[in-house]
Amino acid sequence: MVASTVVLTPKDFKSEVKPTWCPGCGDFGVLSATYQSLSSLKVAPDETVVISGIGCSSRFPHFMKTFGFHTVHGRALPLAQGLKMARPDLNVVALGGDGDFFSIGVGHLVHAALRNIDITAIVMDNEIYGLTKGQTSPTSPHGHITKSTPFGLLASQFNPIATALTLNVSFVARGFSSKPKEMAALIQQGVNHRGFALIHVLSPCPTFYNTFDAWKASVTSIPADHDPSNRAKALELAMETERPYMGLFYKEERPTMDQAAYELTQKAQEFKIDRYMERFA
Ligand code: SF4
Repeated sequence: MVASTVVLTPKDFKSEVKPTWCPGCGDFGVLSATYQSLSSLKVAPDETVVISGIGCSSRFPHFMKTFGFHTVHGRALPLAQGLKMARPDLNVVALGGDGDFFSIGVGHLVHAALRNIDITAIVMDNEIYGLTKGQTSPTSPHGHITKSTPFGLLASQFNPIATALTLNVSFVARGFSSKPKEMAALIQQGVNHRGFALIHVLSPCPTFYNTFDAWKASVTSIPADHDPSNRAKALELAMETERPYMGLFYKEERPTMDQAAYELTQKAQEFKIDRYMERFA
């Protein structure tokens, strides 16, 4: 993590572009939690890159006074990983929605988990495609009726936390957009974590599928005695979908690919220098 030497406030991360989300969109809460957490971490804005795909939540980089990419659908993770490999000195955050990360981009999630490159991914899940006006996404519940599924969704509902845990993502957490303080704390922990951190955020879309009241009534904090190194227990908590748990499910320290690649490059350079010097011995 690249820290700034000056005192920062949330305003230092706020761009002049006003968010274009609908009134009441959960993504506002995620944005303010992100401003808050990055300023508390003293992350240098000009050493930070925010990368998104396509979707309502993917407009995020425009509202941040950091470097950013608004890329193509489902491709925030490949770009974020490539950037971190090329520039391990930067803080890299990938952002997007449930359609972006769990539909077209889900293959990239598998490989990001295996590589464990030191990036943070924040997924704003509203269980619907908002930008294209309300079609089902992978996290929409079975039977959900929309314009694209007038007789109800036939597919099962994707479980992001259980999937991340079985893929062995090294940091897995869930926040709720209406609890920005708790979410900011999780984002801080995710950015501080060395490795791939996935923060799943329940972020309602009041325009096309308003889950706000249901989530407000059901979201439950992870029990205080949960041991985040216990992956089997974390999986058990993840399978509770009626009362979704919020907090840190799992955390594991293990080697990252960006660090391993850096060490390999150093060794290769030393080897090259040794061979070169042998010629003059
Ligand atoms: Fe937010 Fe839904 Fe509006 Fe998109 S359509 S900005 S997700 S409320």
